[in-house]
Amino acid sequence: MSSKKKTSPKSKVIAAVMIVAALGGGLLWLRKDANGLRNALSYHYWIDRYTGVETYKPEVKYFTRGSRDHKDVCFTFDDGPHEAGAPLILDNLKKAGVHATFFVVGIRVKQHPELVKRMIDEGNEVGNHTQDHLRLDGLPIKNVQAEIENCATNIERACGRRPALLRPPGMRFKHETLALATKLGYTTVGWNVGAQDFVPAPSGHPTKEMEDEIHTTPDQVAERVIKGVKPGVIILLHDNPVTAQALPKIFDWLKKEGYTVKTVTQMLAELKPPVIIEPDPVFVPPAKKKMVKSLPSVGATTHKA
Ligand SMILES: [Zn+2]
Repeated sequence: MSSKKKTSPKSKVIAAVMIVAALGGGLLWLRKDANGLRNALSYHYWIDRYTGVETYKPEVKYFTRGSRDHKDVCFTFDDGPHEAGAPLILDNLKKAGVHATFFVVGIRVKQHPELVKRMIDEGNEVGNHTQDHLRLDGLPIKNVQAEIENCATNIERACGRRPALLRPPGMRFKHETLALATKLGYTTVGWNVGAQDFVPAPSGHPTKEMEDEIHTTPDQVAERVIKGVKPGVIILLHDNPVTAQALPKIFDWLKKEGYTVKTVTQMLAELKPPVIIEPDPVFVPPAKKKMVKSLPSVGATTHKA
């Protein structure tokens, strides 16, 4: 004879209900904590969240994504400043009361320094997108350095600030590029959501007016961005008038969904541990070294060149 007590069907039902309620409550809590059910059920989400490796690599100062703990996104506008795009983008940022990060190209900064100054004056960040927009992975390292330094010099001349952020064109770089960027004081910035809001010319440089080259509508740009938004994403857009027109719709949607627009350096400061970078510090030209007249040592001979 078995001594086991028989569990009544009623208590089985109560136990099952309690287990389901506990699981449901736990899942609801996780969903809230992870900003969504998809994150809560994702193995990768929890690994990334607690290791932080996907978001920032401190040894090479490489930032690839903001924190998933905050309902924040940041906007980056590449390839400008363009006369047809930047003023409209800046107007729309101002109207929405938000700031963005512009990754500018040195040769265009030289053409429109006043637009770079306006970006800074209105509270935005200006990052380095190299002098000529060449793919850095195919260049000797000394040319890579020249591409970065020449762009920085043009930014300094335009607005008296030194860029602290770098985005390599097409995100094409080698490990040595990141090491060089770190040595030069840059944080390299990737991206997560794009909108195909540009059609590159075969040479990599626009040869016609930007608007003629873009076959995307503002609505398409807005839809593509909205589709990809998640907490912490870095949005990549381009400095052109079509993208500028898409911004009000994107900003309205973000506001409705409870998102806040931050800059790249603000998103860096939200990481665990926080990465604090002064955006666009005031450029102080290096002091000229005083020439010290050396006395000829005893017995030294002078040679005429
Ligand atoms: Zn670019």
